[in-house]
Amino acid sequence: MKNFYITTPIYYANGAPHLGHAYTTIFCDILSRSKRLLGHEVFFSVGTDEHGKKIEKNAIKNGLTPQFFVDNMSEQFKKMWKMLDIDYDMFIRTTNQRHINNVKQFFSKMLSNNDIYLGEYEGWYCIDCESFWSDSQVGEKKICPDCLRTVKKIKEESYFFKCSRYVEKLLNFYNQNMDFCLPKVQLNEMINNFITPGLKDLSVSRTNDNWGIRVEENTKHTVYVWFDALFNYFSAVNFDNEVYKKFWLNNDTEIIHVVGKDIARFHCIYWPMFLMACDMRLPNRVLAHGLIKIKNEKMSKSKHNSIDPVLLTQYFGSDVIRYFLISEIPFGNNYDYSFERFIERINILPHQLGNLLNRVISMLLQYFDGAIPTFSSLNLEDAKMQDKMFSAIKDYKKNIDNLNITEATSTVFLFVADVNKYIDDIAPWKLYKNNKFKELESVMSHLAHFLYVIAMLLSPILVNKHKIILNQLGVLDKFRKLEFIDKFGILNNCVVVKGELLFKTIDDKDIDNLKTLLNIDD
Ligand SMILES: [Zn+2]
Repeated sequence: MKNFYITTPIYYANGAPHLGHAYTTIFCDILSRSKRLLGHEVFFSVGTDEHGKKIEKNAIKNGLTPQFFVDNMSEQFKKMWKMLDIDYDMFIRTTNQRHINNVKQFFSKMLSNNDIYLGEYEGWYCIDCESFWSDSQVGEKKICPDCLRTVKKIKEESYFFKCSRYVEKLLNFYNQNMDFCLPKVQLNEMINNFITPGLKDLSVSRTNDNWGIRVEENTKHTVYVWFDALFNYFSAVNFDNEVYKKFWLNNDTEIIHVVGKDIARFHCIYWPMFLMACDMRLPNRVLAHGLIKIKNEKMSKSKHNSIDPVLLTQYFGSDVIRYFLISEIPFGNNYDYSFERFIERINILPHQLGNLLNRVISMLLQYFDGAIPTFSSLNLEDAKMQDKMFSAIKDYKKNIDNLNITEATSTVFLFVADVNKYIDDIAPWKLYKNNKFKELESVMSHLAHFLYVIAMLLSPILVNKHKIILNQLGVLDKFRKLEFIDKFGILNNCVVVKGELLFKTIDDKDIDNLKTLLNIDD
């Protein structure tokens, strides 16, 4: 069975985590947990990108050394991931000595093969993005196309990576791997916007940046932050021989990078070329998601428009935030966030799932003193519902295989709606009133099993709450595995218990109070 190596980008350690970071990381965590649920082995890495002039400037402004500054920032990211129940295998930092050695080694190798050469760079430079831009990219106004800040013209000695050597090879690779970058429109953008107009050699060193990895061969240069950062994906797995063999060298391992589409070009163009130059394997897939915007503006600390994910998680809990982000945002699209939309979405949890749990447990307590009846199938409606369950499981698995975790989630919630409707239609309370106990047993044994299936399929998202459902149903530990969900009867004689409320509904009258509490402007 295939293994997976799944990565988030390493986040730039010059500010606290925002909702956009949370989205990417939750996406990867749910993908990793879903793959594990289906029986795959997964290595999941996260981390922080800690070099560059912007960080040095920020540290000095705060009266700190850059190292102290990034130590503190990377801790903030770790705390955030803990709050959101991110179950990563590796937190890689680019100031880690092993990573520094790797970068130096790859730089030297490319230098000795003439893939990297010394030249002179003159161009428009954005300090904030640490990117050089061409005349046409900065336009008349001389502003950075990414962050819209004013750019400066600078001229300096620089090392360059010889892109021209690898363009043909890269295009061939794209041709043979049409799914390399998803959504597919991204790959076309790479080709049309960057490669077809003529890809210039990439400047891969700086002489005006002290806070970086030194070029051994010429120590007035530091390695360009993107060259440094991309190799994190190698460093994250090569610390241990077994991990390296299993998740990098092994061709049965699929390497998946999940990134925001604003940084897709570094992952789809330069990263494969660097790896080609080092004779190393290429990643299998780059998943490029859209950006979260607020009132159609890009979220950023400098614009004071970001939503604090810490406050949001403290109040609502990690399961709710995870569910919101994964169910609400169609992968690849930009998303315009609003608090009202947030509330509308998360209220689906109490209305659909919480309500279902409550109804089933209450009826089992009332009609059977809490003991789940022996599984039987007497009614035509029960049989129809079995078909729906099997097709929900099949669609869920297919969606996970295709990396569509948002669709996988909606598959489960469609089934939740079906089960609620099944209760309304069949009205177990009427069967009870009319003493149709055999039929009632059949219905209730089905309902208990459906809830169990739902809890198992949602376990990668609702990492805490799914346990409450399983506990209330009295599911034995040994049956909390995906291989049992299509086996009717395993809940026979389990004893249910009434437990805590699964989710709280947020009423309209609560919204203003919540906005004050969570520090949200209108
Ligand atoms: Zn910029």
